[in-house]
Amino acid sequence: MHSPLPPQMHVFVRDWLSANNILLKSRDGHVLIDSGYVSHAPLTLALLASPRGLADEPLAKLVNTHGHSDHIGGNATVRAKYGCPIAFPAAEAPLIERWDERALWLSWADQTADRFTVDELLQPGSTHVWGDLEWQLFAAPGHDMGALVFYNPEHRILVSGDALWENGYGLIMPPSLDPDALPATRDTLDVIAGLDVRVVIPGHGEPFRDVAAALDRAYRRTAAFEADERRIGRHAAKVILTFNLLHRRRMPVADLPAYVERIGIYRDINALVLRMTPRDLAAMLVDELTRAGVVRVEDGDLVVA
Ligand SMILES: [Zn+2]
Repeated sequence: MHSPLPPQMHVFVRDWLSANNILLKSRDGHVLIDSGYVSHAPLTLALLASPRGLADEPLAKLVNTHGHSDHIGGNATVRAKYGCPIAFPAAEAPLIERWDERALWLSWADQTADRFTVDELLQPGSTHVWGDLEWQLFAAPGHDMGALVFYNPEHRILVSGDALWENGYGLIMPPSLDPDALPATRDTLDVIAGLDVRVVIPGHGEPFRDVAAALDRAYRRTAAFEADERRIGRHAAKVILTFNLLHRRRMPVADLPAYVERIGIYRDINALVLRMTPRDLAAMLVDELTRAGVVRVEDGDLVVA
């Protein structure tokens, strides 16, 4: 991509376990957006300390797009090193305050993050100057009902978090678990479609410019989800299992039926939407993820392909 971003903006493209880290540099204080997954916090610190990062300069603020483990996992580590305040979407700050492991998809989804406190509430409709750029905040519920996206009108840049990726968006809850998530997802796509965006910096994957094509794919996925709740349930379970495998590295296939019965997100989606035996659910997940080339079975263990 031909220098699509202003020079004070640097994107550390991470993987699917850690969200991208976006650094906005300014003489008024450097700002970091999202901190990655907790087990990758040492790498996050190393990237921040690199010459393309802060080198040995201080960090003035850490900002989060939303409260999922792959975006907030390194918050406590980053704050411990830099002593910076943490700015967080106001709508879900109470979940952080009481550390709601169910609502934040932590133990409920077999994920972890180091606990932290929120210093500044980010409200939709507000404007902030980070990295000498003006950012307008928009509510972006759906994948996460308290999420925000950040829009810079001058350079027409959208920091989309998990509300829009080049191919899809973060998993959403089936209507039986959260009746608001799917309609909110469509509304959020409409909000993004109403912005004049030249480049999207997503929470995962490379920054991309063909916003119309990405929106088209996202709308088509949403229409397919609206037609079939089971499809949302299968998709969510497959995405979470892939994520869990990324941090566990391998899981015995034989343990999977007990695992999907023990971990809340699978148990609840199965009870309310899929209604399969744990054994059939586990077999379906392995089968569909194997055929998609996402996982493979190695010596009786499931591993990420
Ligand atoms: Zn997320």
